[in-house]
Amino acid sequence: VTSRTIFSGIQPTGRLTLGNYLGALGRFVDLQHTARCVFCVVDLHALTVVHDPKELRRLTREIATLYLAAGLDPAVCVLTRQSDLPAHTELMYLLESTAYVGELSRMIQFKEKGRGRPRTRVSLYTYPVLMAADILLYGSTEVPVGDDQRQHVELARDLAIRFNRTYGPTFVVPELSPATVGARVMDLQNPTTKMSGSAPADSLGSIRLLDPPEVIVRKISRAVTDASPDVGYDPENRPGVSNLLEILAGCTGEADPAALAGKYDGYAALKRDTADAVVGVLKPLQNRYAELVADPAHVDATLRLGAERARELAAPTLAAARTAIGL
Ligand code: ADP
Repeated sequence: VTSRTIFSGIQPTGRLTLGNYLGALGRFVDLQHTARCVFCVVDLHALTVVHDPKELRRLTREIATLYLAAGLDPAVCVLTRQSDLPAHTELMYLLESTAYVGELSRMIQFKEKGRGRPRTRVSLYTYPVLMAADILLYGSTEVPVGDDQRQHVELARDLAIRFNRTYGPTFVVPELSPATVGARVMDLQNPTTKMSGSAPADSLGSIRLLDPPEVIVRKISRAVTDASPDVGYDPENRPGVSNLLEILAGCTGEADPAALAGKYDGYAALKRDTADAVVGVLKPLQNRYAELVADPAHVDATLRLGAERARELAAPTLAAARTAIGL
């Protein structure tokens, strides 16, 4: 019997959005008391696309601060930074020697962000292997991520199974742990694309975790809906209004967004309640963030302590993998 171990990470590539919160960060907070948890700021993943070194360091600390502000407790879970742990890249190489070019070429994210473009970084191509190393290193049984990461977790499973079969039992085979609500929060202006941190800073479509309440209210009041006068849940045909219902459900703990639709006979009330719910979830986080950001040394010390604990957790798996593969 394997005890539950949860790993997940967020990359410092942009300002975190409500999508990151509902699909990932908010769930980490609930999960931390249920299992051994490692939550990582995956800064090496941010090197896969054009980046600014100073901004990378700033965003890394911002995300670590947001982890704490959201309520992750370093006494309960391990909070760490990927680049503090060489074990991640070392295991990545062993897994690269297990993975096939063909299967990495099929990764949807690589196809969307890189394939065929001139200055595509090699690291963007191998990114899912590093992610597999992140997951497998801690013996993770579950990986709570948004829908867009589904295929990458599937690859981590495939690599673990292949390695175990070829070299003997070494890795725990992880399960995807999808969010039931909020697994794919969509852009408020283009509700057929996901809400993303890399949207332009002035985008009305993306709610940032640190947006002031009046900005959140404005963005939601301008959210695109459709011509039908009634409120209904139908993500395929009515993505805008369905996204608002999904956000409202995610922020109020309602399990079924469709059930909320019947409560509303117009968009104005739906938008008002959705904005209230989002502000209600984000306000306490923003208040704690304001306190924590005044003490960056505390955040840095938390990451240092996390790295020590993560190193201890990771060492046996890395050693086993090295031995199994013949090193
Ligand atoms: P991003 O996808 O924002 O560039 P990451 O890949 O680091 O950033 O995502 C961190 C976590 O947030 C992942 O678990 C991802 O699946 C989740 N996530 C990102 N965007 C959304 C979204 N729009 N809705 C739900 N979850 C999301």
